Order: sequence, then structure tokens, then C-alpha cells
Amino acid sequence: MKAISKNIAVIACALLTSVAQLHAADQQKRVVLTFDDACKSHATVVAPLLKKHGFNATFFISEGFSFTSRKDIYMTWGQIKKLHDQGFEIGNHTQSHVSMKTLSEKAIHADLEHIEKQCEKHGIPKPTTFAYPGYITSETAVKVLKARGYTFARTGGAKASRPGKDDPLLLPDSLCPTPKTTFDELKKAADQANDRHIPIFTFHGVPDAEHGWVSTNPKTFERFMQYLKDNGFKAIALRDYPAKKATTEKKPQPAPPAAPLRTNKNRGGRQILPPNSKLLQVAGHTGFVALPKNVEAGKKTPWLWSVPVAGNLPGKLEKWMMDQCLANGIAVAGIDLGGDFGTPAGRAAMTAFHQEVTQNHGLTKKACMLARSYGGLQMYNWAAEHPESVACLAGIYPVCNMASYPGLKSAAGKYRMPQEQFVKELKKHNPIDRLAPLAKAKVPIYHNTGDVDKLVPGKDNSFLLAERYKALGGDITVTVFKGQGHNYWTGFFEDKAMAAFIIKHAKGVARLPKVLIVGDSISGGYSKPLIKLMDGKAEMVRLGAVATYRIHKEAFWHSSGTAKALDFGSVKACIADFERFERHLSETQYDVIHFNFGLNDSFRGRKGRWHNPVEQYEKDLAKIVGLLKKNGAKIIWASTTPIPMNDPHRPVGDDLIYNAAAEKVMKANNIPINDLHSVITNWDGYAEWKKGNDVHFSSAVYAMLAEQIAKKIAKQLGSPGEAAK
Ligand SMILES: [Zn+2]
Repeated sequence: MKAISKNIAVIACALLTSVAQLHAADQQKRVVLTFDDACKSHATVVAPLLKKHGFNATFFISEGFSFTSRKDIYMTWGQIKKLHDQGFEIGNHTQSHVSMKTLSEKAIHADLEHIEKQCEKHGIPKPTTFAYPGYITSETAVKVLKARGYTFARTGGAKASRPGKDDPLLLPDSLCPTPKTTFDELKKAADQANDRHIPIFTFHGVPDAEHGWVSTNPKTFERFMQYLKDNGFKAIALRDYPAKKATTEKKPQPAPPAAPLRTNKNRGGRQILPPNSKLLQVAGHTGFVALPKNVEAGKKTPWLWSVPVAGNLPGKLEKWMMDQCLANGIAVAGIDLGGDFGTPAGRAAMTAFHQEVTQNHGLTKKACMLARSYGGLQMYNWAAEHPESVACLAGIYPVCNMASYPGLKSAAGKYRMPQEQFVKELKKHNPIDRLAPLAKAKVPIYHNTGDVDKLVPGKDNSFLLAERYKALGGDITVTVFKGQGHNYWTGFFEDKAMAAFIIKHAKGVARLPKVLIVGDSISGGYSKPLIKLMDGKAEMVRLGAVATYRIHKEAFWHSSGTAKALDFGSVKACIADFERFERHLSETQYDVIHFNFGLNDSFRGRKGRWHNPVEQYEKDLAKIVGLLKKNGAKIIWASTTPIPMNDPHRPVGDDLIYNAAAEKVMKANNIPINDLHSVITNWDGYAEWKKGNDVHFSSAVYAMLAEQIAKKIAKQLGSPGEAAK
């Protein structure tokens, strides 16, 4: 998934080259490499070697045999995900590895679905290819594969497959090597490749720890791969198997992952990507990312997700909006899904794309999405399943209702389902029926549409969606342009209100408020659930008793001993390292600072002396408050939690003495107090806990503290801070 080219000029070049190469590619000998059963050696031996030669392959994953118990010889799902990340295909080989002949239709569905769900859970697109366990096929299995949207399936057969002639769901393999298979036998099978034949290889482990009879000798394998490389073979994944016989195909599409975005002279002109677009390969699809100028290193960039990308889209009509975004520091990105109508397979590819651009290209988790026409189906079907990743949705006469367009019969075809089944499942795929999660996540929506649109009429699409979204409490604006239909009038595309809407929401995402948590080990306890509660609402930074925190260009600070060490766990410690504390606060602007101290300062050491006597504590605390105020953040003080009866170093009552001293300082400085002490004394388990000797709490109690703190922080975030003045 690396960037193929750096700018638009290079992309144009790449297009020309790839067209010129198509005829050559046509002649190229192709083999499909498949690897069954998720053996550990696939990750350790096979993948690095394939990468070295630039080969692709399909790994058919099953959780049968000892997959779950013997992680020494089978891959983990993390390793499987890594194969996907490396560009290899992950195919389905069923959960149980039981013969398709012995299973009912329902059981086959479940056996396939389990692997699909595991893939989804681990960020791998839903598989579209299949390998029959033990090569055993059944008519029911073929029917189920069709229904679930599988495009190719491999069985046995010991002959080279014929694209366009063999049933794509019953493709024969050429060879399944055993330990006795010689290099010459492998070579002979590969040499059958020509423009009408594609040998498919079924490998198991290289070597295979559990099934010695299908084990491949790593040395033989290495020699065979070298042979393929040296003799100009192209090794492909099964998903890239040609849909039709190669020779009769007049204009073959270059097989992904090498496919450039296509150009198309039809309506609306040709595809136009922003300058500086990088092309990406994700899950067998081509995507692009264009970053704005002056992206700051280490900062996430907000972005517009343009849908659909296919054929001539985005075209020159989209250019205006893309320019507005880029000029406002907003990236533009998209993935080519062909004419996908928001199918589960399309959504899976979108998820993979989102993951790729957010993890590897510096884009924010939340995207602003903009759909034109049928792109509405891609946009809404993905957004409904990922509302937490959506900043806002915008649509130019977007399709919201497949009953209106393209009609249920045609839509069922797009979903590769019998119409009757599609109608039954429609609510899972139709935007107007999938609005609740978006409303709950408060995703704002803006559409425009024409009042004489005959193709995607407002009343069955945007207006209907708006009515339902409002009923759910959602925020939606629909602008209606008089006298306009489903056309290329530039007013739809250069809608200033829509641009302002997108820019506003994109920027809101880019700059989440920053919250600093400072305190002792109690703050360590509540920070974890607190950070979760604040996900998507604020960027959380914690400095604490055992803080390991990186400050601008400086090495990690550790909590104990060394010169670099910084301990933020007590007032005394903060004063001891005041200079660096001060420097950090001068370098980093916070919106809210929530802090608590007391338990470590009131700790009684030798002869019952306080670690930081209360009079000094009060003075030091005042100094720290002065420092925090200079930062400009809104400040919240949290009282210290109680001391249990049998604490060997803290007599009961010291907590109240320290809290009273702190209260004086906070009142003098007008700083709100978050009374965590009372949260604990009002807690049901308090009486029992008080009998103990440990000032710390269980995670459930920390979660309770976190909830109260989150509320206090949210309240402060909602009001203008010192910083705003
Ligand atoms: Zn198998």
C-alpha cells in the first residue's frame, strides 16, 4: 500500500505507461498462488519471500485443526492482518474446516460468516474468495458462496484453470505439493501457463507442522519462486483472477494492485484528482490522498472523503470543492469502488481505506464525507456503521433510497442477491432506514438537490431522509435549487453554503480541545477510563506519579532517580522540578487542566512527619496554581480521596486537613473544586473499603470517579476559557 506516484503529472505518465504495457501484460504467464490453513510459516517464511519477488498470493484462513490452541504453529489474527496490510489477499477457508458435503446450508453460512466476522474484527476486508476444505465441493456450497458475494472459489483438479471457461466458483487447482513433490513437477505445472490457462497452486505450510503429508520443503519452495521470477511469471492473488477469458477481452483492465485510476470520456469529462495526489492500493482497490500545503509534522490533517471515485468521478465538477478544502488545510481522499452501491464488500473496502489513510497518511479519524448521486449509497452505508468516524455528511442530489433509484430489482443485482432476499434485507442496506446511529452520534448533514430531479427525486430521497433524520433528533439542512434536475449545473457543485459546512466541521475535528490531567496514583487509576470517556471529545495528556512523558524533543522522563526524572505525583515533587513543569506549560497550550494532590504530600515518614507539611503544602499549591493560570487553560482542582482506617502511613483525618488547605487556595483563586472525596464517601462500598489499608481503588470505582471528572471537564470545555480572551 505504498504511494505509487507523488503528483498528478506522474499519474498521467503512469496511465500512459500502463496502457502501453497492457498488451505485454496480456502475454504474461500468470499463476495464482494460494496457501491454506493459516500455518505460521505463511507469515514467517512465505510472505517475506513473496514480497522479495513482488508476488501476490491468497492466504485461505481456517480456524480448524489446532488453530486456536497451537499458536506456535498457526498464525495469530494479528499476523493474518499483517499479511493483508502487506497487500496479500485473505480468503475464506471456513471456521471448522469440515467438508461442505456434510454441512447444511445454514451451517455453511455460519462457517463462512465466522471467518468474515473475524476479518471484520481485525480490520481485514470481507473475503471474496474461497477454498473448499479438503477440495470437497457441493451444490449447496456454491449457492451459499454466490449469496454471500464470493467471486472465486478453488477446489482440486490437478489441471491448469481456464479463465472464462471454468466456473469461477469451482476453479481447479494445478498442484498441491507434498514433501515428495520435486522442483521439476512444480516447474512443469507452472509452465502450462499461457493466454488461455492459469495454473493455480495450493500450498499448505512451508513447512507444515501439523499436516506433514502436504508440507512443502522451504528450499524447494524458494527455488520454485526464483524460477517464476527469473522466467517472467506474474504471481497473482485469486481475487485478481480474470473475470473473462483473457484473449477475448478487448480492453483488459490492469489487474489490481497495479491498477491506475481509470479515465473515462463519458459524461462530465474525465477524472480529475487534486494536484499532489498520492495513489494508494488498498484491499485490491485504488485510492488517492491529496494533502493540503504546509501540513505540520505530527499533526493530524482533517479531510474530505469524496464519493464515489470511479470512471469519470471525481471530475471537473468536483474540482471547486476540492480546491476549497485544500486551500483551507483540509485533505481530500477517495477510493475507487467501481459502481458500487454501498454493498457490504464495498463498505469493507472503505473501512480498509479509512484505516490506511488515518494510520499511515496522517488524516484525522473523523472524516467529512461528500457524495454525488449514487455515491450517497456508499457514503450512508459506511457512515451508518462508523458514526464515530464521521464529522459530517454532505450530498449533491445523493441517492438515499434504493427503492427510488435504481429500483429494487436493479439494486438486488448490485448486491448479488435474489430480489426477494434483497427486499427482506433492505433495511440493512438502505440509507433512509439506517439513520439512528448517525442521529445518536449527532452527525450533521447537508444536502442539496433540484426540485425537478426525475432520476433521484427529492421527495423519495433527500426530503424523506431529512424528515426521518429530524424525527430522530438529527441536524440536517437540505437546500433545494429551483428548476434544476439531476444535471451538471455548477451551482450544485459550487455551493458555498455546503463548502462552509464542510470546512467548519472538518476544522472542528482537527482541533480537539486539549486536556491535561496531573496528579498522584489515584489520577493514574481514573485516567484510563477517563481517556476512554473523552475519546473524540478531547485530546488527553496525563502527567502523574509514574509519568513517562515525552516533552518536546526531550527524552522520556521517568519517575525515579535519574537527572531526567520528573515526578508529578505530589505538590512537593512539582515544586522540586518547577522549571521543567513551567517549561512544559509554556510550550503546550491546554484548554482544561484537571489536577489533584494530597495523598503523597500528607504521607507520614519517620517520627510521623509529613512528607510536605500542610503549611508548606498550601504555599506550594498556590505557586502551582499561579503557574497553571499562566497557561490560559480552564482549571479544575480535585479534592484528595479519603484515607482508609488502617493505612500505616496516613492517619485518618489528614485527608481533611490537606483538603481544607487546598480549598483555601482554590477559593482565593476562583478555581472550581471537583469533590472526589465525597464521591468516595457517598459510594456504596465505602464502609467496607474504609476498613482496609490501601488508598487505591478497584477499576469499577475508578470508572465512577472518571465519570464525574468527565462531566466536570465537559462543563469547562463548554464555557469560554482564559485562552479565549
Ligand atoms: Zn485446508
